[in-house]
Amino acid sequence: MKILIADSMEKEAVSEIQKLGEVILVPNDLKAAIKDADILIVRSATQVNAELLSHAHRLKIVARAGVGLDNVDKEACEKRGIKVISTPGASSNAVAELALGMMFAVSRKIAKADFSMKKKTWIKKELSGTELEGKTLGIVGLGRIGAMLALKATALGMEIVYYDPRTPNSTLGRQVNLNDLMALSDYVSLHVPLTPETRELINPAAIAKMRKGAVLINTARGGLVDEEALYLALKEGKIAGAALDVYPQEPYTGKLCELDNIVLTPHIGGSTKEAQIRIGKELIEQLKKELK
Ligand code: NAD
Repeated sequence: MKILIADSMEKEAVSEIQKLGEVILVPNDLKAAIKDADILIVRSATQVNAELLSHAHRLKIVARAGVGLDNVDKEACEKRGIKVISTPGASSNAVAELALGMMFAVSRKIAKADFSMKKKTWIKKELSGTELEGKTLGIVGLGRIGAMLALKATALGMEIVYYDPRTPNSTLGRQVNLNDLMALSDYVSLHVPLTPETRELINPAAIAKMRKGAVLINTARGGLVDEEALYLALKEGKIAGAALDVYPQEPYTGKLCELDNIVLTPHIGGSTKEAQIRIGKELIEQLKKELK
């Protein structure tokens, strides 16, 4: 059995996968390598589209190590009789912790403080921050990650409001509509999938409803936020700050990198040792079931 891993993975996850067969790891020529692969494993970088699949002769399974299948053309897989699987819950805690970390990082200007220290400057006066306790966190999408974040933030003394029409009456927070969430929240954190309905959910109109001192956190998908609208809101001080882990185009090198009041990370939400081990284990379980 040939297993092609197209995107880099932690060695713990790779060694779990090696238990199933011969592993080809991040080849230079993906189209050549996919020819005789039985299983293709991807994270979020590789685009599994009809063109790539046209080079595969034996492929039976496409496995997405992580959540979100927006880089996998499920229809094209279906047409070729290729099964698509993923590990939806394995990285939830890692992403929830990153979202929380970003809230702290923006509020206490941790990245700016670190940057200034490494330039050997002492800018204490510019680094006065705000606290999370007693603030309102608006969670857009109360699924696996949103719910984990709600629990953690509640423990910190935050009040939770959420918008998720498909998860009514949760005890994790108070359900409100999106307009009210934008207006009530000191922190807005996005945890919905990218769909035609959610694309640019955070647009100029939504941003206009945010509080002046509010902070936007996006660890879900880049396409959820209108980049230009966010840039203007941060530049003009309409909102206090933002933190992003995901971008419409990755790797991202756009103009948000120029701003001081935003914390940017390169899509590392699921990149913890623990999450990668869970992903490896969950993948193995699912692959074993499929291969029975
Ligand atoms: P999930 O499916 O468990 O939860 C998503 C929630 O969003 C569901 O409760 C659903 O009802 C809700 N929802 C869907 N459409 C909505 C809409 N239009 N308005 C409001 N709510 C809506 O997903 P999850 O596992 O919690 O993942 C959430 C997001 O995080 C996904 O976009 C996923 O791709 C992303 N993610 C990012 C990383 C990373 O590395 N940064 C890692 C894992 C997941």
